[in-house]
Amino acid sequence: MRIEIIPCLQDNYSYLIIDENNNSACVIDPSESQPIINLVEKNNIKLKYILNTHHHFDHIGGNEELKKKFGSTILGFEEDSHRIPKIDVLLKDNQIWKAENFIAKIIHVPGHTSGHICFHFFNEQLIFTGDTLFSLGCGRIFEGTYKEMFNSLNKIKSLPKETKIYCGHEYTLNNSRFCIEHDSKNLNLKKKIENIKKKISDGLPTIPSTIKEELECNIFLKIKDLEGFSKLRDLKDNF
Ligand code: ZN
Ligand code: FE
Repeated sequence: MRIEIIPCLQDNYSYLIIDENNNSACVIDPSESQPIINLVEKNNIKLKYILNTHHHFDHIGGNEELKKKFGSTILGFEEDSHRIPKIDVLLKDNQIWKAENFIAKIIHVPGHTSGHICFHFFNEQLIFTGDTLFSLGCGRIFEGTYKEMFNSLNKIKSLPKETKIYCGHEYTLNNSRFCIEHDSKNLNLKKKIENIKKKISDGLPTIPSTIKEELECNIFLKIKDLEGFSKLRDLKDNF
């Protein structure tokens, strides 16, 4: 499997997971259709599946157009079936989704929205975290409680350390400013920030991160208790 990172809209990332043996692909969270169409046509592959982490427009905006053009199957969380356009397959928490050579575990992570899910491609050790876990940050809590978001992040935290994290937005540099303010002596974080700045100045994505790096550097994963987490989340909302 090969991953293509596709910048969309202002600061979104969609991703193509390409199975080179079958010449087929899944797209994660197509914000808009055109950048995806360009890449699918350039690679001459079949876009078989559209995987949505949640219903926000910047994650599903390309659904209808892509389905119309390529006949792709759209997947999303069962409880979001009313608000994910053109959904075909309703996914459940902890389900293993299998199609062709694609295998992913569905992890329900409420907090940002009530129906947010992650796709864990455990064979390849990749997770698509949408707007729940960002590099050096986490999503705003729109529909859930602090406790739900805290528990959701704990689920992601418990994955193997080498798991690569592909999130929904390029927020890393801005997130790093908040982390360093609250964790100014963290040498791993300082090193990561150097790295991030270099990537950005080279015009490259700061994604993927890894569970290991996030455990070391992301203040929202380092904090141990719900109360501390809630305070940090409030501070970040006004940062
Ligand atoms: Zn969102
Ligand atoms: Fe988003």
